[in-house]
Order: sequence, then C-alpha cells, then structure tokens
Amino acid sequence: MALTLPDLPYLKNALEPHMSAKTLEFHHGKHHKTYVDNANKLISGTGLEKEDPEKIIKEVAGDASRMGIFNNVAQAWNHAFFWNCLKAGGGGRPTGQVAKKIDIDFGSYEKFVEDLKNAGATQFGSGWAWLVLKNGRLEVMKTANADTPVAHSIKPLLTIDVWEHAYYLDYQNRRPDFLQAVIDNLINWDFVNSRLA
Ligand code: MN
Repeated sequence: MALTLPDLPYLKNALEPHMSAKTLEFHHGKHHKTYVDNANKLISGTGLEKEDPEKIIKEVAGDASRMGIFNNVAQAWNHAFFWNCLKAGGGGRPTGQVAKKIDIDFGSYEKFVEDLKNAGATQFGSGWAWLVLKNGRLEVMKTANADTPVAHSIKPLLTIDVWEHAYYLDYQNRRPDFLQAVIDNLINWDFVNSRLA
C-alpha cells in the first residue's frame, strides 16, 4: 500500500480544550482514514502504488480523468501534514528562523496572523489556509477543497484545515474562533522551523 494512516503525534485529548478528543476521533479516525482508504483503492493497479504521495499529487494534478486520485491523495497528505503542525502548548509568537523571517516578509507577527486568519476565514466552502515558502519568501495562501501547495510546487510550512469537519463539533459555525484558537494555542512552531531549515 502506498499510503498509510499515520498515528497522531499526540494523544487524542492532548489538544483540549482547543480541539477536542471527539473532533480528533472523527477527523483523524474517520475523515483522514477514509481519504487514505479511498486513495489506496483508486491507485491500485494504476502503477502509482509505489510512488510517494507528493509525487502522485504532482503527477495527477489538473488531470480531470484522475481527479478522484488527486482529491484523496492530496487530502491524505494535507491531513498528515496538518497533524504535525499542531501540538499541546503551542501557538503564539514563534521563535527561531521563522520568527525572523515573518518579521522580514510580513512586517510583523500581527500582520502575519491577520493574513492567515483572513485566508482561513474567507476560503469559501471547504479548504485550507497555509504559510508557504515561495521563491524564498514567506507567503500566506488558501486552497479550495483538496488543493495543496504541493500540487503547485510551492513548499508548505504550516496549514490549518478549514473544512467544517475540522471545527464544527467544537466551534459550530464559528470558523474565525477556531482559527484564533489554533493560532494562539496549537501551532507547532518547532515543526514549522524544521520545514524552513
Ligand atoms: Mn480535514
């Protein structure tokens, strides 16, 4: 099997109260698992089974006849990445290289937060808000549905899932409150720094 469901890098209740065990039980155990299972069914027999997910994403991106493969493999990759972007006791101002680069490329941490929240809140329907490295500069971007910077050969450093299933059990329709809680309490800046290094 080319794709596997990675274990969460923390206990299911570790991110409470900002992200409940119930949310992680469904989000990781049901939604993410279904993307992995469907991806494996769809790539079976296509010759893509032995490729790594990033390569599959780039190969099938934009190919209408393989949209199902793209959607499920990209969602599997995006979710595995998202879990690594979170940790208990995270969030708030970063340290290290990413802190310096945020000041240079956004002007301030506050401006970065404003841009990231705005990207997540204004993504119409389902999608993702991202901090990426593009042409050597940090940028915020948003993508719809399963789309991912990986498909555009842009390096993701951080993401927040803004599909309703990411926040509805804990925040109902209040997506901006979910974004603020993740930004203030859960971002794993050590992981972001490791991506930047
Ligand atoms: Mn999700």
